[in-house]
Parts: sequence; C-alpha cells; structure tokens
Amino acid sequence: MNIVIFGPPGAGKGTQSKFIVNKFNLYQLSTGDLLRNEIKNKTKLGSEISSIINSGELVSDKVVNNLIEKFISNDTYKNKIIFDGYPRTLDQAKNLDKLLKKYNQKIDLVLKLSVSLETVKKRIMERQTQENRTDDNEEIAIKRYKTYEISAEPVLNYYKQSNLVKVVNGETGISQINSEISVLIDGIKGWL
Ligand code: AMP
Repeated sequence: MNIVIFGPPGAGKGTQSKFIVNKFNLYQLSTGDLLRNEIKNKTKLGSEISSIINSGELVSDKVVNNLIEKFISNDTYKNKIIFDGYPRTLDQAKNLDKLLKKYNQKIDLVLKLSVSLETVKKRIMERQTQENRTDDNEEIAIKRYKTYEISAEPVLNYYKQSNLVKVVNGETGISQINSEISVLIDGIKGWL
C-alpha cells in the first residue's frame, strides 16, 4: 500500500507519517527532509534551493521529481511508501503516477489533513522552538500556507477523480487523528 499525506505546513503530516510508519510498517518519503539534507550537506543542489525554501516558495517540479525515483525504484520500499509533502503540484502528481506505474505500483489512499491558517501559525511557532527550521516563522508560515492553497486544489481534484481522497480533521489532538487515520488505512487494507 502506498499513501500520500497531504495538507498545509503545520498540519501534522510529519507527525502522522511517523505514526503510520510505525503502525503499518511503511517508509516515509519526505521531500522536505530530502531537500533540507541537501542544504545541510552543502551540496550544489542545496545551495540552489536554500533561498527558495527560506522564502516559502516551492522548489521546481524538476528538482523534486528527480529526487524521488531512487526511492520508488528500490525494492525494499515497494508498495510501502508514505509520501509526505509530495506531490504538491499537478505536474508532480502526474509524474508520481508515471513513476509508480513504471515500477508496478500505485497510490491507494490520499489522506488530507485539514487545518485553519490560525492553527498553522500557532503550530509553526511551537515547532520553531523545537526544530529551529529556517522557514518556520510567522511571515513565512503565512506564505507557505498561501502557496499550499494555490497549488493544492488541482492536486486534490486530480486524486478525487480516482476516489482516493479521505479528509481528516487536523485540528483535533494527535491521538484522535492517529485513530481516525488508522480506521481509514484499515478500511483500505481490507479492499486490497
Ligand atoms: P516541508 O518539510 O514538506 O514543509 O517542505 C519544506 C519546503 O521544502 C517547502 O516549503 C518547499 O520549499 C520545499 N518542498 C518540499 N517538498 C516539495 C515539493 N514536493 N515540491 C516543491 N517544493 C517542496
């Protein structure tokens, strides 16, 4: 089973991905983490993308599309991936389908975590003190939320056509969201 976890910054995608990884034996593929690693390791790509990430914009489709094939083509992760923060644009969603098809896989579930801008701002302020991410400040949080609002709709509409989208209220507590997600995943597993 491959899952996409979708939602604005601060929706809890990372937290919920880690929960799903542990409970359902999946692997998390976070493009945000991959990109931050490039910056941390001071690679050429890292130097090209750091200002984009810090401004709250999206890195180009070409860059992120190139990062994920290595993961999808690896047999260890076959049909066991939770995509966290990817796809974020329609182009990426189509690229993901193409790549999964190439390796005989598909997306089985798209979990959309919905949260308000007010909650996003609050959570990002909390995260700033814990993780010290350079793009976690109020101004950039608002920018990232707006970027999400613009790019998310075409992606969601794309997945809705295949009836893959389940919406989870991301405003409640972590364990409440854990349980709702578990029920949804168990339901899908029953069908597979
Ligand atoms: P995240 O950790 O998912 O919140 O991502 C942090 C930042 O990395 C985003 O604000 C983007 O600048 C960049 N990024 C992560 N994933 C993608 C993606 N799929 N497409 C474009 N940019 C991305």
